[in-house]
Amino acid sequence: MDTSRRQEVKNELRAQGYAWDYIDSWPAKIDMYWHRDVKNPEGAIISPSGTLVPNQPGHPDHAARKSRIGLLPWPPATTCKCKSCRERDWDKFSITEDGIVVLAETLVRCDQCEFIPKGDSLQTKKFALQSHVKKHGEKVPV
Ligand SMILES: [Zn+2]
Ligand SMILES: [Zn+2]
Repeated sequence: MDTSRRQEVKNELRAQGYAWDYIDSWPAKIDMYWHRDVKNPEGAIISPSGTLVPNQPGHPDHAARKSRIGLLPWPPATTCKCKSCRERDWDKFSITEDGIVVLAETLVRCDQCEFIPKGDSLQTKKFALQSHVKKHGEKVPV
């Protein structure tokens, strides 16, 4: 890479949240994560945000190309500076224990049975779930 190309790549990586010195000390291989949902041509999500894509070449040029399509070497987070994370409405999304970004309301479900609470808002769903879960404790039919 010549000097101007180098600077260009450096600026691009920095804009996505890469560390200052990435271009000077890049690793041979990096694990990357999708920061957007990857869909098939039919529109079904095949790799949700947060999916790990291991063992990618760490070369800055390659990293810059990947960051353009939403692949970055850290998992999605509310503090992430990439375009997808900045534009995501984090009030509506949560990150699961596995690091996958999902609609928060899909996490509101009973872990003891198939029950999924209904409600107009996340708050009412959480409330409905609370009263449902209590019934498990009371050992009455739900
Ligand atoms: Zn991100
Ligand atoms: Zn239940």
